[in-house]
Amino acid sequence: MQFQFLGTGNAAQVPCYGCRCPACERAMNVTTFRRGPCSAKIQVGEKNILIDAGHTNLTERFPVGTINTILLTHYHMDHVQGLFPLRWGKATPIPVIGPDDKEGCDDLFKHPGMLHFLPAPECFKPLYLLGIEITPVPLNHSKPTVGYFFNDGESSLAYLTDTLGLPEKTMDFLQQQRPDIVIIDCSSPPKPNPRNHNTLNEALDIIEHLAPQKGYLTHISHELDAFLLSANYPLPDNVIVAADNEKIDTTENMT
Ligand SMILES: [Zn+2]
Ligand SMILES: [Zn+2]
Ligand SMILES: [Zn+2]
Repeated sequence: MQFQFLGTGNAAQVPCYGCRCPACERAMNVTTFRRGPCSAKIQVGEKNILIDAGHTNLTERFPVGTINTILLTHYHMDHVQGLFPLRWGKATPIPVIGPDDKEGCDDLFKHPGMLHFLPAPECFKPLYLLGIEITPVPLNHSKPTVGYFFNDGESSLAYLTDTLGLPEKTMDFLQQQRPDIVIIDCSSPPKPNPRNHNTLNEALDIIEHLAPQKGYLTHISHELDAFLLSANYPLPDNVIVAADNEKIDTTENMT
């Protein structure tokens, strides 16, 4: 499995419009610190499985025929806004799989264009794409949201955003599966009474419970970047703050 982060930011992205904090200044000056809408891809040969569609230039990034399927975590705008221009394309329909959400986002279901929205798969029941077993798992968010557990027989990866903590069933399932890689929503620095998204506290707690070889933080706000810049906050050795375009070769993580 070749996994790549396409975006690692929260809805505001980094730099945040008009902000002059150290993280935003840094991202203005050095493009590698910028964070686009939280999304990723898994590549198998010439084909890609997209995880969310927040980038609005998917039509430029992915030539016709290179998107096998789009997996959606949920229908918040920062995760689906790229579907709005893509849907009016003239190409073979692209299957879209997402959580059971009758509303979707705006008029996507009413006017899907070349997007083929498939019935929502049942959680904890695997589906198979490009030889990869993919299991949707429920998450805790303000809209119906699922994470995905990927297993290609050699290595495994859990992609878990957007969420605050994990539902007990999801935690149990993942503890049994023991993913090699865990990618987790970590939207903000530690703060009291978080809502809808993990702070650093919940994210590190989940990584500790799942004990992967590597845990990656994503859906990152400029506040978290600024916090990590200013605070001498030691992260555990197996925890990595993800960056846009960063790749994970999951086979390297085999023990
Ligand atoms: Zn800022
Ligand atoms: Zn969301
Ligand atoms: Zn989000």
